[in-house]
Amino acid sequence: MAPDEFLLEYKSQDYGTDPTEVRSTDTYTDEYVRGFVEKWDELIDWQQRWESEGDFFIEQLKAHGVKRVLDVATGTGFHSVRLLEAGFDVVSVDGSPYMLARAFENARQRGRVLRTVQADWRWLNQDVYGRFDAVICLGNSFTHLFDERDRRKALAEFYSALVHDGVLILDQRNYDEMLDHGFSSKHKYYYCGEKVSAEPEHVDEGLARFQYSFDDGSVYHLNMFPLRKDYTRHLMQEVGFQSVSTYGDFQETYHEREPDFFVHVASKK
Ligand code: SAM
Repeated sequence: MAPDEFLLEYKSQDYGTDPTEVRSTDTYTDEYVRGFVEKWDELIDWQQRWESEGDFFIEQLKAHGVKRVLDVATGTGFHSVRLLEAGFDVVSVDGSPYMLARAFENARQRGRVLRTVQADWRWLNQDVYGRFDAVICLGNSFTHLFDERDRRKALAEFYSALVHDGVLILDQRNYDEMLDHGFSSKHKYYYCGEKVSAEPEHVDEGLARFQYSFDDGSVYHLNMFPLRKDYTRHLMQEVGFQSVSTYGDFQETYHEREPDFFVHVASKK
């Protein structure tokens, strides 16, 4: 399908009669409908998001001597473009062809050409060739996998896409805090600014359903699996990563209850 055809795809989100029962890895391509993605891109200022993240990811990659990066959760291209601009060699993967078309266009507008591959993480190495110094899976993306077998399969695919001493950088929301203590309104998406509020509508051990309300009145949802931090670390070690360092909101030392996001840096060596 040509990118233009994706741009015509204008569906609304449909979670059926009982949205809290929608708990499947395969729903992600239908969740990111055009309206949601466009709104997100329009309202989240890339510059502001860059400033909130600082150089954290670039410094991590440089510290590990990384040159080739596989961005497996490209989305609308934020990290791929940032890393291209910082001089890394980047290949951009997403399971959603619409996201890739959007990312390609975003990069083009910034004078960059993205090398895109449409692939689902569970069968990543069927479609992606070569080995990378780093795999990045950012923006709370791994949370889309609902089945433990899918999580193991995806991590094993990330592992084998890496060179012998490669690193995986994967982030996630602090779901432990939500599951154990409820949601506090001071915990916002760190890059949302004032134009989007992202709040959980339903949280249990198997589902975190978030509502995204935009300042123009539009409302979207995402159903996600609430990954506990130590569970994610454990899975990474089980598929073979030798060391996993976890940062809270980009800091090495943090109070367990405070961070909004955790970033795991898992090394094969
Ligand atoms: N990293 C980007 C960011 O931070 O802006 C985008 C993150 S977005 C929350 C998650 C992305 O992961 C979506 O573009 C979605 O299509 C992709 N995704 C989710 N599950 C996937 C899977 N099983 N295989 C490939 N891509 C997947």
